[in-house]
Amino acid sequence: MRVAVFSTKPYDRRSLDAAAEGTGHQFHYFEARLTRDTAGLARGFPGVCIFVNDEADAATLRTLKDGGTGLLACRCAGVNQVDLHAARELGVAVARVPAYSPHAVAEYAVGLILALNRNIHRAYNRVREGNFSLDGLMGFDLFGKTVGVVGTGKIGSLTAGILRGFGCEILAHDAYVNPACTAIGARYVGLDELLAASDVVSLHCPLTPQTHRLINAETLARMKPGAMLINTSRGGVIDTGAVVDALKSGRIGSLGLDVYEEEEDYFFEDFSSRVIEDDVLARLLTFPNVLITGHQAFFTREAIGNIAQTVVESFTHLEQGRPLSNLAEAPPMSA
Ligand code: NAD
Repeated sequence: MRVAVFSTKPYDRRSLDAAAEGTGHQFHYFEARLTRDTAGLARGFPGVCIFVNDEADAATLRTLKDGGTGLLACRCAGVNQVDLHAARELGVAVARVPAYSPHAVAEYAVGLILALNRNIHRAYNRVREGNFSLDGLMGFDLFGKTVGVVGTGKIGSLTAGILRGFGCEILAHDAYVNPACTAIGARYVGLDELLAASDVVSLHCPLTPQTHRLINAETLARMKPGAMLINTSRGGVIDTGAVVDALKSGRIGSLGLDVYEEEEDYFFEDFSSRVIEDDVLARLLTFPNVLITGHQAFFTREAIGNIAQTVVESFTHLEQGRPLSNLAEAPPMSA
C-alpha cells in the first residue's frame, strides 16, 4: 500500500522502513506536519500515517478522503489530534498504537520526579562549570511521601508500581479501578482528596473534553502547598498560564513537563538559534524549579520498534481485508 507519512524524523524513516521490509508497502516521507494546508500532499495515498502534533480536523480529513485515503494510522497512543467523529462520518478508519511501551513513559515520569526533586539537571550544569556548591539543590526523600496518580491505565498503573517500590503511598484517581493498582495498595479517591493530600501529582489521563485543563487555577488551589506537578500525558490537561501563576506564588513547589499545551509550534524542532515567541513557554523556562523536555517520554528503542510494527500491521491488515484490532473509536457525542 502507498502510505504518506507526515511529521517524519530520521528515526521514523529508519524504524518504518525496517518494519515494512518484505510487506510491499511504499512509505513516502514528508517532514511537514499534516494540517489543512498540507493534506493535499496525501492525494492518491490510500494510507496516511501521522504523529502527536499533526492536525486531523474535519477539513483535513475531508481532503484526505477526497484524495482516496481510507486509513489514518497514528503512530502514538493518544488520538486527541484527530476529529474521530468527522472521521467516522467520512468513512476514514483511524488506527492507533494502544500500547507500544507504557514502561517507557512510566519510567520517564519517574525520571522527571527524581531529577526535579534532587535538582540533577541543575547539578549537571553546575558541575560542568566547576561549581560544586550544593546551595539550592536540596530535595526530599521520596520514601513515605504521597504520590497522586491521575489516570490509572497502562502508564499510570506502571508509574504507581515503580513509585510504590520507592516506598511512596499511592493515591489514585480514575473512573475505573485498575486491579494492578489496588494490588500494590493504591487507594482510589476523588480528585479533590488526591490533590489535597499528594506531595507529587502525576498526570496520566488522555486529553479529552473532560480532561482539558483539568489542572487549572481552581484545582491548583486545592493542591498541597509546595507539591510537585508532573505531566507526561498531554499539554492540554494543564492550564499552563494558571500553573505559571501557581509557581510564582509558590503554591506549587516544582513542575516537570514532557508535554505542553502549545507544543506543536516548537517541539521536535531545533529553536536554539531562534527567538521563542511563546511568552508562556519562555517564562516557564526561566524557573529554577521547572524541568521541561520536548515530548520524549515515549522515545525508547523498544517503543519506536513497536510503534513501527503496529503501524505496518495496520496497513497490512487493511490491504488483506482483515479487521483492524487497534481502531480508535469516536466517543459518544454526549460524552
Ligand atoms: P490508558 O487508556 O491505558 O489509560 C488512561 C486512563 O485515564 C484510563 O484508565 C482512563 O479511564 C483514565 N481517565 C480518563 N479520563 C480521566 C479523568 N477525567 N480523570 C482520571 N482518569 C481519567 O492510556 P495510557 O497508555 O496509560 O496513556 C495515557 C496517556 O499518556 C495517553 O492518552 C497519552 O496522552 C499520554 N502519552 C504520552 C506519551 C509521551 O511520550 N509523553 C506517550 C504515550 C502516551
